[in-house]
Parts: sequence; structure tokens; C-alpha cells
Amino acid sequence: SANVVLSGRTRVLTVSNQKGGVGKTTTAVNTAAALASLGARVLVIDLDPQGNASTALGVPHTADTPSIYDVLIDEFPLADIIQTSPEAENLFCAPSTIHLAGAEIELVSQVAREHRLRTALDDYLSSAENTMDFVLIDCPPSLGLLTINAFTAASELLIPIQCEYYALEGLSQLLSTVRMIQKHLNPQLVLSTILLTMYDGRTRLAQQVAEEVREHFAKQVLDTVIPRSVRVSEAPSFGQTVIAYDGQSAGAIAYREAAVEIIRRDSASTKEGRA
Ligand code: ADP
Ligand code: MG
Repeated sequence: SANVVLSGRTRVLTVSNQKGGVGKTTTAVNTAAALASLGARVLVIDLDPQGNASTALGVPHTADTPSIYDVLIDEFPLADIIQTSPEAENLFCAPSTIHLAGAEIELVSQVAREHRLRTALDDYLSSAENTMDFVLIDCPPSLGLLTINAFTAASELLIPIQCEYYALEGLSQLLSTVRMIQKHLNPQLVLSTILLTMYDGRTRLAQQVAEEVREHFAKQVLDTVIPRSVRVSEAPSFGQTVIAYDGQSAGAIAYREAAVEIIRRDSASTKEGRA
């Protein structure tokens, strides 16, 4: 197996891009499972009301399941809602339920509305029994208060980019939101990682988009690209990540390689990569 050394501190990565369907959830759950397969303790926080990350990690998230909604709105401790994924004993999920759909509006009138997730996560991680090497936050496709809570709680931003026409559209809006967060809410936040997803190397367009992204973000783009693969898209319907569903598939191998790169590249070395 890969020769990787964990840093010993918790890295909190928010997986964000306000475009839908670019591979945020797929990247969050598969990177998390890959990191776990390399020995890391990993928590995925599902911050999308659709609950796709919870589904892929095989954890129940029906309407009556204690969820991240209860944490954000009713100040439940994170420890009370976290479930262990059936996939691995070191892979955890804070599930989302349909109630989260209302949270975006309910949060508006709350005290410290941008800091709710950060406070809950700090409380959780301050207890010696709750060590995590990685926390990955799966964001909804918007730049609303849920995503702002993720940006405020995170130390690093991971942007998945789908290699298609218009890939960079909307990125400047995302980056200006990040600058606003850095200035007013979370000076620690660093754009550390960009991952090219659903890559089809046979098309000239995908190659061009990849080149363009690498020119703009030389330091942040991982060498690994995630290929378009049917196994990746099938896995969630079995309540699994592709790591468990078909660990030898091209998608699983790519997500493991991405995980190794993420472990090896420390956020400290990408500090100059501020958005
Ligand atoms: P987002 O969370 O950004 O909305 P998803 O992760 O849900 O995006 O991905 C959108 C769709 O693309 C899903 O149906 C997913 O299964 C599919 N998909 C994501 N990555 C891949 C891939 N590497 N190969 C094939 N299909 C993929
Ligand atoms: Mg998603």
C-alpha cells in the first residue's frame, strides 16, 4: 500500500462549487473512503439537503434521523448525530435529512448564523475521544448560508471541476466569496486543492479545459484526474462508495491516488495559493 504519513492534526476540507453535477458529492465520499482505506479517521459532513453523501456512505437519513439540521438549528452536539459508515470502522458521516432544505432560511434569523458548524465541529474535536485526521464537508450547489457555514468551519477548500465547456464559469464568483470569507469570517481558509473530475481524455475539449485549469491554478490542481467511469456512477445506488463497490476499477484507483496526493501535499505548502 502507499507509503503515506498522516499529519496528526485535523484537516477540514470543504468540497465546494456552486455548480451542480460537477462531482462534489462523488469526490467527497470517494476521497473520504480512499483516505480511510489508507488508515485515516475520516468524517464526512453532509451539508446538502439531498443527502446524497449520506446515501453513498450507507447511513440512514430518513426524516426522523438525528442530523446536521439538528446541529445547525437546535445546537445538538455533533457526537449525537454522527454515524459510522458500514463500509469502514474509521469512516464516519454526519447525515443530512430533508429538514435541511429549510435550514438555509431558518439560519437567517439565528445568532452567529455563519459560525454554527464551526462551533459544533470545534466542540466535537476538542474531546480527546473524537480524533479525526480529515473532515470533508459536502456542500450544496449554492453560495448560501450552508456553504458559508462550511467555508467558516474549514481550513481548506477543495474544488472539483468537471472538464467540460463552461467549466470555469462561476469560478470567479466562488473565488470572490472565498475572499470575502477570508477577510471577514475565516482568515485560515486556503484554496488548497482542485480536482479534475469526469475526465474523458479522448476528447480534445477535456484536454483543453484541463490545460486551462492547470495554467490558472498550477499549485492547486492535483496531478491525478478522475476518469469518467460507470462504476463511479453506479456505486451510490448500492449505498456504497466506489472504493467498496469495485476497488480495482479505474475510478477507485484514481480516488485512492488523489487521496495519497492530498495526504502528501500539506496545506502549509499551498499557503501562497490563496484565492
Ligand atoms: P454534485 O455533488 O456536484 O452535484 P455529483 O457528485 O452528484 O455532483 O455528480 C453528478 C453526477 O455525475 C452523478 O450522477 C454522479 O454519479 C456522476 N459522476 C460523478 N463523477 C463521475 C465519474 N467520475 N464518472 C461517471 N459519473 C460520475
Ligand atoms: Mg452533491
